[in-house]
Amino acid sequence: MSYVIPAPKQAVIDVVGTDAKFPVRRIWCVGRNYADHAREMGHDPSREPPFFFQKPTDSIVPSGSTIDYPPKTKDLHHEIELVICIGKGGSNIPIEKALDHVYGYALGLDMTRRDLQGEAKKLQRPWEMGKAFDQSTPVTAVQPAAKIGHPKAGAISVKVNGEFRQQGNLDQQIWQIDETISYLSEFVTLEPGDIIMTGTPAGVGPCVAGDKLEGHLEGVGDLTVTYRAA
Ligand code: MN
Repeated sequence: MSYVIPAPKQAVIDVVGTDAKFPVRRIWCVGRNYADHAREMGHDPSREPPFFFQKPTDSIVPSGSTIDYPPKTKDLHHEIELVICIGKGGSNIPIEKALDHVYGYALGLDMTRRDLQGEAKKLQRPWEMGKAFDQSTPVTAVQPAAKIGHPKAGAISVKVNGEFRQQGNLDQQIWQIDETISYLSEFVTLEPGDIIMTGTPAGVGPCVAGDKLEGHLEGVGDLTVTYRAA
């Protein structure tokens, strides 16, 4: 095939234990999936159905990267999240079959220009400029489920410059991995390469140019990203 302009690069994530890559098709994100975080954002954490938004696949940056502080914000927030990596597609996937569709898991940051997101919410506009900006999705290598299984619990945290900011546990998720996959697949057909960022625990907060972020998820991995000094 030839193209009339340079073709976009396929977004990929490294995979632990192999040189082969995980190709990314879509990035889905769950809003408010930990009760404490829902409360800190001013919402009732009752078990209402999850809602979803997307980020662009070219926003992915590998762990260990040094990146620029994004433009047009004075309030860049970290959201540390378990990432589900889909290996087998489907629609209307039953909960009891959902884990069969998972290739593996990673740890990601859903970086958020909170000021732009807040403005969008207030004006009832879409969230993209708060969520879907360049380099807004640092991600670790994928751990195959064949190797680590399907995490049900595990400490999840992020430190900024060595100080804990977010600390939670996967067992605090309102919607479990299988329920999230099943529910999302009722709305859209999932395909291999789709990834789902499953929401963030309490403690979201700002970071500034020069900050070093260190994420940890027990049994899945460690994520580091540094913002270039101004
Ligand atoms: Mn998030």
